[in-house]
Amino acid sequence: MFKSIRWRFITIYLLLIFLAMSIIGFYLTNQLEKIQLDSITQSMKGHISSILASSTALQSKDWANQAEDIREMVEKNVQIGYDENLYIIINTDDKRIIASSISSVVSLSAFESNRINNLLVLEALKGEIVETITSVSYDGVTEKIKHMAYPVKNNDGIIEGIIYLTYKLDAVYAIVEDTTFMLTRATILALFVTVILGFFLANSITGPIKDVTRKASEMSKGNFDQSVEVMSNDEIGQLAIMFNFLTQELKKNISKVYQEKSKMETTFNYMADGVITFNLDGSMIHANPVARKILDIDETLEIDGEKLLSGIDYQLSLMVLKEYHYTGRTMVNINDYIYNINYAPFRNEVDEIGGVIFVIQDITEQQKLENMRKEFVANVSHELKTPITTIKSYTETLLEGDIDSKETVQSFLKVINNESERMSRLVGDLLRLSRIEYNQTDWNKVIINPCEVLVEVLEKFSLVISEKNQTVAFESVDEHIDVLFDKDGLEQVFQNIISNAVKYTPEEGFIKINCYKNENNAIVCIKDNGIGISDEHRGRIFDRFYRVDQARSRDNGGTGLGLAIVKRILEAHHATIEVDSVVDEGTEFRIIIPTVHRGEEYA
Ligand code: ADP
Repeated sequence: MFKSIRWRFITIYLLLIFLAMSIIGFYLTNQLEKIQLDSITQSMKGHISSILASSTALQSKDWANQAEDIREMVEKNVQIGYDENLYIIINTDDKRIIASSISSVVSLSAFESNRINNLLVLEALKGEIVETITSVSYDGVTEKIKHMAYPVKNNDGIIEGIIYLTYKLDAVYAIVEDTTFMLTRATILALFVTVILGFFLANSITGPIKDVTRKASEMSKGNFDQSVEVMSNDEIGQLAIMFNFLTQELKKNISKVYQEKSKMETTFNYMADGVITFNLDGSMIHANPVARKILDIDETLEIDGEKLLSGIDYQLSLMVLKEYHYTGRTMVNINDYIYNINYAPFRNEVDEIGGVIFVIQDITEQQKLENMRKEFVANVSHELKTPITTIKSYTETLLEGDIDSKETVQSFLKVINNESERMSRLVGDLLRLSRIEYNQTDWNKVIINPCEVLVEVLEKFSLVISEKNQTVAFESVDEHIDVLFDKDGLEQVFQNIISNAVKYTPEEGFIKINCYKNENNAIVCIKDNGIGISDEHRGRIFDRFYRVDQARSRDNGGTGLGLAIVKRILEAHHATIEVDSVVDEGTEFRIIIPTVHRGEEYA
């Protein structure tokens, strides 16, 4: 209970009021008592003086002889109050009481009466007025009495006797008691009022604090739409203003952090690279979908980072990475894909290394391209090396001048010429291919009938075909087939395929060519009954420099680029090519070109 500010407030107020009232009460009653007693002392002194002044007998030198007069004067003339008692004590050896307001004590020695304080009597006989207060208890009641002994001197300065006056202090202490009682009641009332006022005052302070605490607790649950009412401009009001300001700032900052987090998460989720982070103890903090897919991570299972990483490559184990300060790059192979893994440490809130972040890049394609590039350079070098070597050796022989025979010189020059042509063809094909691949060819697309182009190309081969005694059957059903194609490009396509059919079909072979329209496509089939292509090679014949039989192709003047060029030209015109082949039975190439209706090309 006393942990709450409210009760502490009330307790402190209570103690303060209690302390203040106690001090005031103590001081007040003390002062009251003193004033009352002083007044009684004065009144007693005055009474004694008036008795003394009114009696000649008391003023005489000889109280022993005047004793009777004195007693009479006391009994008849002296006014004695209800609370008072008067004793006239003569200064004899036994200090006899010669007159008193209590007749029973007259003639007794002062030392015999318990109503008279003996010590006070002896003290007064030294010549000074003395006084004291005594307490007398009877029947359980304590009664306080004030005693005053007044020495009376004769003309010779000898103490004749003592006027002894007592005064009951009941009334005085009754007043003091009443006052104390009254103050106690006032104190209780003040304490009661203090509790009530303290309650309200404490509430006015703790209320806003409680409000702030309640709102802060709401905020800790993530609800930042909190504000407290500013009810004053004092410290509590300032606290409320500050709280509202802090809430707003916190809300802004948290929303910024959320935005950043969401941006980061979206970036992580949609980035092409895999990102995965681990604590130094190997527990996984985060993995984006790409990383999960690459590393085949089941979201529901707990991941042992150390096991996962060392499973990919021992070099990636956190223990090994520690040696390199968790920074570096490694190339790994996972499920036939090549990945480049970059890793770096990230720091925690106390600026120590908190974990490691791994960025996994799929470089399989890049690697393939790199390999293709290397292969291409090797192929080109290889293709050029043979004709260059041949030309060089024949030229050297000719230059030596040892050959007399004109025919031999002629045949040498023919070889040099053939090899130069081969190089020229190769370079020409390469240039064409690279132009197409780098989109540098300006296709002049026009509406043409592929069957008509086919007829023109076939004519160019008529001589070779007749030399090889091959039979060509050309069949074209539809007269009107329109395709949007670059004429030179289409000629090149047919030329390469027909030239292959002629080349890879033995003498007296048969070549069948069909050109027709099927739904929205123009189909051109070029079928031969030549050597055919086995299944293992069929998928690769469109690759650059790919030749099923190197020697045979070279003998036939092939560069290994013909079908690669065909494929690129067809792709540039949204056309496709299919191939069916059976070894030793023949090959069929089917070219499929989308047809157009006249006028559509400008749509
Ligand atoms: P090449 O200049 O060697 O003919 P191509 O790219 O035109 O190069 O053809 C690639 C390879 O495909 C050829 O080397 C050959 O082995 C094979 N090929 C192409 N057409 C035929 C065909 N009609 N019959 C058999 N093999 C063929």
